[in-house]
Amino acid sequence: MSEMQQYVEDVLALVKRRDPDQKEFQDVVKEVLTSILPVLEKNPKYKANKILERIVEPERIVQFRVPWTDDKGEIHVNRGFRVQANSAIGPYKGGLRFHPSVNLSILKFLAFEQVFKNSLTTLPIGGGKGGSDFDPKGKSDAEVMRFCQSFMTELRRHIGSMVDTPAGDIGVGGREIGYLFGQYKRLQNEFDAAVLTGKGISYGGSLARTEATGYGLLYFTKAMVEAAGDTLQGKTVVVSGSGNVAIYAIEKAQEFGAKVVTCSDSNGYVYDPEGIDLALVKQIKEVERGRIKEYAERRPSATYTEGCRGVWSVKCDIAFPCATQGEINLDEAKTLIANGCKVLAEGANMPSTLEAIDYYLESKILFGPAKAANAGGVAVSALEMSQNSERLHWTFEEVDERLKGIMNTIFQNAKKRAEEYGVPGNLVAGANIHAFLHVADTMIAHGLV
Ligand code: GLU
Repeated sequence: MSEMQQYVEDVLALVKRRDPDQKEFQDVVKEVLTSILPVLEKNPKYKANKILERIVEPERIVQFRVPWTDDKGEIHVNRGFRVQANSAIGPYKGGLRFHPSVNLSILKFLAFEQVFKNSLTTLPIGGGKGGSDFDPKGKSDAEVMRFCQSFMTELRRHIGSMVDTPAGDIGVGGREIGYLFGQYKRLQNEFDAAVLTGKGISYGGSLARTEATGYGLLYFTKAMVEAAGDTLQGKTVVVSGSGNVAIYAIEKAQEFGAKVVTCSDSNGYVYDPEGIDLALVKQIKEVERGRIKEYAERRPSATYTEGCRGVWSVKCDIAFPCATQGEINLDEAKTLIANGCKVLAEGANMPSTLEAIDYYLESKILFGPAKAANAGGVAVSALEMSQNSERLHWTFEEVDERLKGIMNTIFQNAKKRAEEYGVPGNLVAGANIHAFLHVADTMIAHGLV
């Protein structure tokens, strides 16, 4: 084992020893650190500066109690968190997730991932993530509002447009950001527009932010597929999820001439061989906040299957996991590829297990890893902050054009780095290396802080 392999092993062991229960965090650290080995071998300064030990330790974590009352007057207590992972290249930036599965391991994994993702956008944003184990499913608007107000009453002490700027993630969309912003503004007595992104257009939100993650995923995939001499035209596409990322991925995939045949939620998936009717999905998910099962009830060509994981058994050319972490394991990866899938790009954060990712790389399919492929959302968040600083609104076309440019740059940088470090075609390594160099060199420039 080389000196640097030993260094990586030692840091992975340290992470495990410190937080033995944080499986998701350990996995993401392993994915990143093992893939940047060629950089460490070439540049001993990273080890000398203990950059790995520093980068795996969030700069700050806050955890707090969130008490709120439901519509019957009963009291509930949830946990709130904010993980401020790294501020080397800008204020902490990253979403808030409201979901019963939220815990420190998941938020540390998401915050770590966000550091690298944000670096790839080329924009000046550090990495963070937060959220709560609150479940917005089935709650009334008034309950969600009271929860958001209680959550922000504490969170406001730790954020600010020059400090940390949260946004949405699973369970946090326009409605929640509105309540959170309203409470922040009231308590701080200041209209600090860029303190949150994903805002409504009427109070400083950016056009195309809603579409950005899904559209960005397709811009990235288009660049990746075209670099390999193919196009998206006429391809059969499997999408998981039916939230914000999935909906706008489907929209852009259809615009590029692909046929999307599935989408899903945590209960099950729909298969529609005639192609997903996106207007119907939007009606059910965005307007009615209903379940995807209802799609099959209203659309004769579609069938519904209970259990969301079966979606990976549907034959396709391209797969876009857009639901959540760990949704594709090794067996599902094997099924996808055995059925002819040649392109996979991740709209969700770490939807594939480490074993599944190794299998994609071995099989030489075109693989766009999450931190590169889904960076469009946070990139447009940073553009929203730029507009807030200017006190101006850009047009939809202007934001969309910049998003396209950013996603192309992310692809080109990852591709170039993979070639430069002797692993051509491996965009996992290419993206991690490019992001790492930017953050690590800046950390060294700042001294021991
Ligand atoms: N939650 C999104 C992500 O995973 C967006 C974060 C943001 O816009 O700050 O990248």
